[in-house]
Amino acid sequence: MNIILREQTAGGTEFAAEVLNKLTERKSILVAGGAGFLGSRLCAVYLEQGHRVICVDNLSTGRIRNIEQLLDHPDFSILLHDICRPLPVMGRVDFIYNMACPASPPKYQADPIQTLRTNLEGAFNLLDLARATKARILQSSTSEVYGDPTVSPQPESYWGNVNTVGPRSCYDEGKRAAETIFHEYDEVYGVDVRIARIFNAYGPGMDPDDGRVVSNFITQALRGEPLTIYGDGSQTRSFCYRDDMVSGLMALMHADGPVHEPVNIGNPVEFSMRELAELVLTKIRTASKVTYLPLPKDDPRQRRPDITRAMTLLGWEPAVALVDGLDDTIAYFAAEIDAHPGRTVAAE
Ligand code: UDP
Repeated sequence: MNIILREQTAGGTEFAAEVLNKLTERKSILVAGGAGFLGSRLCAVYLEQGHRVICVDNLSTGRIRNIEQLLDHPDFSILLHDICRPLPVMGRVDFIYNMACPASPPKYQADPIQTLRTNLEGAFNLLDLARATKARILQSSTSEVYGDPTVSPQPESYWGNVNTVGPRSCYDEGKRAAETIFHEYDEVYGVDVRIARIFNAYGPGMDPDDGRVVSNFITQALRGEPLTIYGDGSQTRSFCYRDDMVSGLMALMHADGPVHEPVNIGNPVEFSMRELAELVLTKIRTASKVTYLPLPKDDPRQRRPDITRAMTLLGWEPAVALVDGLDDTIAYFAAEIDAHPGRTVAAE
């Protein structure tokens, strides 16, 4: 596939502003998981564009640090709440994003039952709120619904190859079941649902300790520690810059509906983990070498989105190549490490 990367590094910010220009009046947006990496960026962009934002988070992996600059904004409110419990009755809500679930394997595996509850009970509770308020609701699903895919790239029509009883199952099957719950609320109750399958987002705002490959490699290189490659590093992922991801989610949310089918949102340029390590080491002057650690069980061999549907339906495509998006990301992690020099990286 030929991917045209637009020549800009502002990411999807301009695209997101264009999408939101379609809204003719101020809207109320509820972001569950609004203190997380992507959720907090969604909150910030809607506020910048003059809308009201309610952030719902239980701060399990979300961080106040991600939203501290929003706390004094008159149109921003935060509800400390676990979506496993029904949401309190609120006033007007027009759009709901469900971004609430740990996405990093070490984090979602730390409490697999809670991961399942968040995905299942959280889906029901947010959908019930959407029904009650007549809001449109977007589910942040994941490329993990494809498991260890046997086809590449992965189109939405691929049903996946997922282990139901492995270390990743609580997340993969939780997200798969959540898609079904969303689908049935659409079919049975006519709720306006959107399902985005997110492929490996990265960028400023990631938790340095979340144990994901981008945060691990960069923080390791910045500290002069070895970069921990799991397995032989030939497994692949396709990394999508934060602002591209957020603009893709917004494009899906505000697409003239209905949109009954899931939509892949990601950057289809694929890298092996060895290539990623090399790229990080070309950007950060460091004494770091690489070290090889065992591959976690059920780690997908390959992952690359087919984004034909997003391009056709939403007119969206990613604008930021990994080689550019890493610059902002590295600068962000360097500042985080300066602020908290003692922390260690969560490698498996
Ligand atoms: N990985 C790695 N070193 C690390 C962390 C992760 O080589 O320090 C690998 C991991 O085994 C996987 C890939 O990087 O193959 C992406 O891992 P991540 O946890 O970022 O995301 P996911 O597996 O959920 O796509």
